[in-house]
Amino acid sequence: MKQILLAIIVLFSLISCNKSDEIIEKEIIKPAVKKIEFGFKYSDFNVIQDTIKKGDTFGTLLEEQNIGEREIYDIVAKVKDTFDVRTIRINKPFTMLRSKNKKNDLQVFIYQPDALNYYVVDFRDTAIVVYKKTKPITIKRRTIGGVLKESLSETLGNAKIEGALASKISKIYAYSIDFMKLKKGDRFAITFTERFINDSVYDGVEELEASFFEYKGKIIYAFPFAQNPDSDKIEYYDEDGKTLKNFFLKSPIKFSRISSRFSTSRFHPVQHRWKAHKGTDYAAPRGTPITTTAGGVVEQSGFTAGNGNFVKVKHNGTYSTQYLHMSKILVRRGQRVSQGQVIGLVGSTGLATGPHVCYRFWKNGKQVDALRLKLPSGEPMSGRNKDRYIKTITPLKFELDSVANL
Ligand SMILES: [Zn+2]
Repeated sequence: MKQILLAIIVLFSLISCNKSDEIIEKEIIKPAVKKIEFGFKYSDFNVIQDTIKKGDTFGTLLEEQNIGEREIYDIVAKVKDTFDVRTIRINKPFTMLRSKNKKNDLQVFIYQPDALNYYVVDFRDTAIVVYKKTKPITIKRRTIGGVLKESLSETLGNAKIEGALASKISKIYAYSIDFMKLKKGDRFAITFTERFINDSVYDGVEELEASFFEYKGKIIYAFPFAQNPDSDKIEYYDEDGKTLKNFFLKSPIKFSRISSRFSTSRFHPVQHRWKAHKGTDYAAPRGTPITTTAGGVVEQSGFTAGNGNFVKVKHNGTYSTQYLHMSKILVRRGQRVSQGQVIGLVGSTGLATGPHVCYRFWKNGKQVDALRLKLPSGEPMSGRNKDRYIKTITPLKFELDSVANL
């Protein structure tokens, strides 16, 4: 392979980048500064930094350094317990430290399977030394906040924050905030931690420690907390210790009684025959408001002979709910609805003996009993836990509020 000695002094980075000039396959770099990397002083060596190319193996790379086939075979066998050379992958960086004399003997081979770990094969002694090392990770903490001038992901992008944080945040708030509806001028603040390798190389977002978003005029906080201090199972709660995972309201009607439960076989009051009842009936006076039990998008809104006036709401990829026998429908298909929003009024349209709402629940496309469903709802906080929680979040909340001038 062609090796080009760079006349100019190049300050090199850890991550080798794709060269625009395809011909340059390996560069011999003269370090500008007294650089120590992987524990080696680069100025003591003739340094080659490159990435594994298609067709490269540990063997071919060593062959290019004038190491004989037999010797390579021995080396591979000697290092294999620590460094299985077959795990070398294309595009991963490697470094060769060669002697500075005319022979340019290979002295050290370093392979980086990822940004964090590296293998060192040191040929300088008669006995080959091989080891794997992990670079030290530092966690740094940041609080950002203010007023949204563009979308949340753009705002985070401009603050040089990895996209993973935005998706983490949208997951945490999935049931309380529709991030598409955040507006310019809405206030926010986020405290989070980031990983740095060797104290300098950014390695991504570690954790969200605290946040708030102003949504439809309301400030919604999120703080992680483990109710069981012995477990690391964390849930997110608001400033009062209420779970943010308020997936579904218990029922679509505030004050009502269950008149018929979900069953695989019941005697139908109108059709007078046994059939499955895949819903829960809540009896209520005609005209009583029916609310959607969770936010989502109206998937269906219309009339059938059996259902009467009905609405079906899709909450996410997993859950949908349906509300039947309405006297009046108050939403349109495609409309976004929020948890607790009134979507229709109780009636007895379709196959119904009296005014009630038949509440149906789908999980992964299958009708299930909403009353038996173990929904991922957060446990209510007990007195002692709540004290501990409030103590934990008070300084975090103060930090958020001050950065956003709340
Ligand atoms: Zn029913």
